[in-house]
Amino acid sequence: MTPHESMSARKQLRFWGWGYDDEHLSPEEDRLIEAMAGMLLPEGAVEVSPPQISDFDLPPPRMAVPPDFSEWVSVLPYDRLVHSLGKSYADGVRMFLRELPNAPDWVAFPKSEQNISDLMAYAEQHNLALIPFGGGTSVCGGIEADVGEDYAGTICLDLQHLNRVLEVDVASRAARVGAGILGPDLETQLKPHGFTLRHFPQSFRFSTLGGWIATRAGGHFATVYTHIDDFVESTRLLTPSGVMETRRLPGSGAGPSPDRMVIGSEGILGVITEAWVRLQSLPVWRASVSATFDTMAQGAEAVRLISQSGLFPSNCRLLDETEVQFNGLASEPCAVLVLGFESADHPVQAWMERALEIVTVSGGTYQEDKVSYSSTKDQIEKPEREAGTAESWRNAFIRMPYYRNRLTGFGIIADTFETAITWDKFAELYEGVKSGMEAAIEEITGTPGSVSCRFTHVYPDGPAPYFTFFAVGDSTGNLRAALDKWQQIKAASNKLVVSLGGTVTHHHAVGRDHRSGYEQQSPELFRQTLAAAKASLDPTGMFNPGVLIDPVGKSVGITGVMKGIEG
Ligand SMILES: Cc1cc2nc3c(=O)[nH]c(=O)nc-3n(C[C@H](O)[C@H](O)[C@H](O)COP(=O)(O)OP(=O)(O)OC[C@H]3O[C@@H](n4cnc5c(N)ncnc54)[C@H](O)[C@@H]3O)c2cc1C
Repeated sequence: MTPHESMSARKQLRFWGWGYDDEHLSPEEDRLIEAMAGMLLPEGAVEVSPPQISDFDLPPPRMAVPPDFSEWVSVLPYDRLVHSLGKSYADGVRMFLRELPNAPDWVAFPKSEQNISDLMAYAEQHNLALIPFGGGTSVCGGIEADVGEDYAGTICLDLQHLNRVLEVDVASRAARVGAGILGPDLETQLKPHGFTLRHFPQSFRFSTLGGWIATRAGGHFATVYTHIDDFVESTRLLTPSGVMETRRLPGSGAGPSPDRMVIGSEGILGVITEAWVRLQSLPVWRASVSATFDTMAQGAEAVRLISQSGLFPSNCRLLDETEVQFNGLASEPCAVLVLGFESADHPVQAWMERALEIVTVSGGTYQEDKVSYSSTKDQIEKPEREAGTAESWRNAFIRMPYYRNRLTGFGIIADTFETAITWDKFAELYEGVKSGMEAAIEEITGTPGSVSCRFTHVYPDGPAPYFTFFAVGDSTGNLRAALDKWQQIKAASNKLVVSLGGTVTHHHAVGRDHRSGYEQQSPELFRQTLAAAKASLDPTGMFNPGVLIDPVGKSVGITGVMKGIEG
């Protein structure tokens, strides 16, 4: 494949969907998608082909690039396209529709903090909006340059050159890292020091440290260190009002924490250029198993007891019957718990044994000979790592975003949403969301859909349920109709989770698509306070207008794909 003309130094991404340009589905995977389409859609269903760059007629940039910026500011079509939208279902289908009303005028690839400061000064002078961009994996409209009518132009600020581990403090097990570093590059640069950040969101390959901090991302591990919040020791934020750098401290009781304001700021306060992060040693001992329960309720009770036992498993992923069936993990209807422990310091057999006692008293079953223990040291307790349920589920989980590239063209809506809820309200939320979403999908699309649930994280006071749904958007090649239906389904899911007591997002962030839910669940006085803080750091409101809140003096409101949709 000929590379697209670009100023990006990264390997080229597929601009219209998930993955790198040179990554494709295997023939078996293509057959799987076709079989799925065959099951869901009537005979003769039309598949729309993915777009080419030449399909887009982007409006010319509204500003000419000044000579001083020409080394690191691009107006090339590929660069503007790949920075136009994130990676949600709605972003993908809009690419298939070949409609991009909000492509940024420029894409800047600053090579230094000075470049960022120069750009902020230019934006202030010319009334432009700046949109910080890490890896562009936002699933809630966080990087779409739909900034309302009050700006003369938009600039996407790609931080890819801030991609180094800059310092390692071995004694404190911490590192200073450039915010634009991608997950795999961070781990590669930490490995020679014997450390890991051990933060593995599903989007790990394509997302960045700065993006994780800005969105309060959640990693793969189920308990204790799950949100990026837990790993942030200090941050450095460049704002139009100056630099805000916080002190490295293991803890501090000195008033409200400035880092707490930066973490989750979603690009509205300025640019996170660096952070000190807490590291961990590479794990040595591991244990894993899967257990089955007759019902989700039984499995949830076991997970509640484990989450409150102080055992803190690294993996504690409960999958409901629909999720198990969809992934072909059991022949009979049941819920499955994938349980794992790991440690860099000690064998974890005792922890696993105690967790399995809890599983058993809660009515779960597991196969004794499938409990797998492994170690990278000589003390291997059982040689084989389990290659069963946990592995096959994990493979499907990693490949799903690639499958969506093709499902979208078939008019199949495949999407996810996630929440968190205290244990006392979990059963009601789970039943309410499942039945509410099934009813909404059938009413909106005229066809039954599938709604499944798993826990991605568990806390002593409640789980973070993650819902996946499939629905028939359209089978005639009319992807506009599919998008319209998705918008209504999305509004229904936003409403359901908040009205049943959950948060509108546990780790996907607010962006533009979750603003209605965020406004319902957060105190108005808090949002006013946040807007005042933003006005102090960013007086002209140049940073990411439309995300989280409106800048003071500008009423951007809900923009992006949920604009005008009641939710
Ligand atoms: C298939 C898939 C799986 C996903 N899995 C997970 C998951 O397991 N856990 C999870 O938490 N999320 C997940 N996400 C969502 C997404 O990956 C996260 O929100 C991630 O943290 C975004 O990082 P990014 O570098 O791609 O940021 P971007 O998408 O580029 O930006 C996200 C937001 O942060 C702001 N931002 C980015 N960098 C900076 C910076 N340096 N300074 C200031 N603001 C900045 C942007 O303006 C934007 O508002 C997934 C998304 C997809 C598509």
